[in-house]
Amino acid sequence: MAKALPRNGELADQLDLLADLSEILGEESFKVIAYRRAATRIRETPSSVAELALSGRAKELPGVGRTIEEKVREVVEEGEIQALKRRRERVPEGVVDFLRLPGVGPKTAARIWTQLGVTTLDGLEAAAKDGRLRQLSGMGARSEEKIVAAIASGAGQKRRHEDRGLLGVALPAVTQVVAELAAHPAAIAVSEAGSVRRRRETVRDLDLIATSADAPALIAAFCEAPWVAEVIARGDTKATVSGHQGLRFDLRVVPPECYGNVLQHFTGSKDHNIFLREDAQRRGLSISEYGVTIVDTDEVVTHASEEELYAFLGYEAVPPELREASGELAAARERRLPRLVQLEDLRGELHCHSTWSADGKGSIEEMARAAKARGYRYLALTDHSHYLREDRLERQWEEIEAVNARIPSFRVLRGIEANIRADGTIDVDDDVLAELDWVVASLHTAFDRSPTERVLAAVDNPHVDCIGHLTGRRLLKRDGASLDVERVVARAAETGTALEINSQPDRLDMRDTHARLAGEAGVLVPVTTDAHSTGALAYAALGIGQARRAWLTSEQVLNARPWREVARRRKSG
Ligand SMILES: [Zn+2]
Ligand SMILES: [Zn+2]
Repeated sequence: MAKALPRNGELADQLDLLADLSEILGEESFKVIAYRRAATRIRETPSSVAELALSGRAKELPGVGRTIEEKVREVVEEGEIQALKRRRERVPEGVVDFLRLPGVGPKTAARIWTQLGVTTLDGLEAAAKDGRLRQLSGMGARSEEKIVAAIASGAGQKRRHEDRGLLGVALPAVTQVVAELAAHPAAIAVSEAGSVRRRRETVRDLDLIATSADAPALIAAFCEAPWVAEVIARGDTKATVSGHQGLRFDLRVVPPECYGNVLQHFTGSKDHNIFLREDAQRRGLSISEYGVTIVDTDEVVTHASEEELYAFLGYEAVPPELREASGELAAARERRLPRLVQLEDLRGELHCHSTWSADGKGSIEEMARAAKARGYRYLALTDHSHYLREDRLERQWEEIEAVNARIPSFRVLRGIEANIRADGTIDVDDDVLAELDWVVASLHTAFDRSPTERVLAAVDNPHVDCIGHLTGRRLLKRDGASLDVERVVARAAETGTALEINSQPDRLDMRDTHARLAGEAGVLVPVTTDAHSTGALAYAALGIGQARRAWLTSEQVLNARPWREVARRRKSG
């Protein structure tokens, strides 16, 4: 195994930095976009991109191509992309950190550097504090305040990609590894465990638990798999490896008779297990990862499945997504756990884009056929309102009609994703909204300008059916708008406005606790993908994980209903 090759994460970091520096230097944006796209693709590729580049096959990856492949080879041969090296020599190191501050884009970062001569975060903080920053156009006292606060809170420090990763990246990788291990002749049962099994929005190490008739053989298959970049630790029943995409996997092979105990233990959460243990102690039982000891007799009882373990302890089996010490054990004791929504329950899609949005990659027909192939019966096309000005909306309706005529037992609905303006109004006229089947309204800009009031205004709009990605957060990148979610949820319940769970891997917005609040208040929550390509419709699995973490049943998930019922529940319907 070639150990010295750079990891995908390292290649991606170099490309991201190249993109940042190119932007600061004012270079052409298509290059910057290409570098970023390639970085994302490389970070998510399960095999070694360096290896692919050496054999001339990296350029076959979508978004990579010949120029990027050349750059990957430079990293292999010289340790660094040459274009990156040249730009690093031109831009002081600290200037890139400015980009992680709120309201500081590449142009501003460049001006801070060239016009004020400031090249470090400390220098920037000082400049903001003594009012020098406002000399730059577009900067005022408020932006200075925000920058000081952000630096104080540690923003601007280097992002650590290796630290936590998105569920959307980890889950497909784990699913693949579980399937491969399960297919091995030595495997009896294999499961994911840990936070990924609980579908937390970001995850760290990935835990796998297996039972086997021949543990060393299964461990060997795991350590020698082609996707493994490095074996970090290897024993007879345990091993840790890292994959080329930078994810770390832990495999434990355990005896079949205590599989339930070990799986439950390593699924967590820590807090759930603490509560479980304390409750058991009160009844003379002591729980460990290998079994339950009856304290009086010292007898150890093991469980082949989690269901048996929970039943032994007096509970209904608790779905992994609920194991967060937020009331699930009391509910399981009283046998009133909700029957959580499942991926198979979804009947349609209520937020997605086509090539009518500039960033959409699938035509209306392609999106519709992909949705139908998933078993859906309808798809609300919600292209961005700003791409549907003039007569484009009517022309889109003509295309929708034509597509509907070609696809039987399926319906494309006329929808839109409208922008909530800074003053809380919607950027589409009421008479146009009134003609649509489905209206999503979203915050896309000015997240810090009275976000609660603006969202409340949108919720009050009789034509708005659903609020898109409530807070606008980007996981691991930026916090969302600080909204008064309780007020928004209450008003949404009052007006019959839906609040979505947006399944984009870096959004998962509403977050779990907010979605639970919404469900409890009686708000209907569609699980949407906001897909900009046919493949992205599969993100629904992530959103469903989030919905389950929010305790939602299929009755509470709006698009688990047929369109006829959704339409009947519209405010304007
Ligand atoms: Zn949006
Ligand atoms: Zn969207």
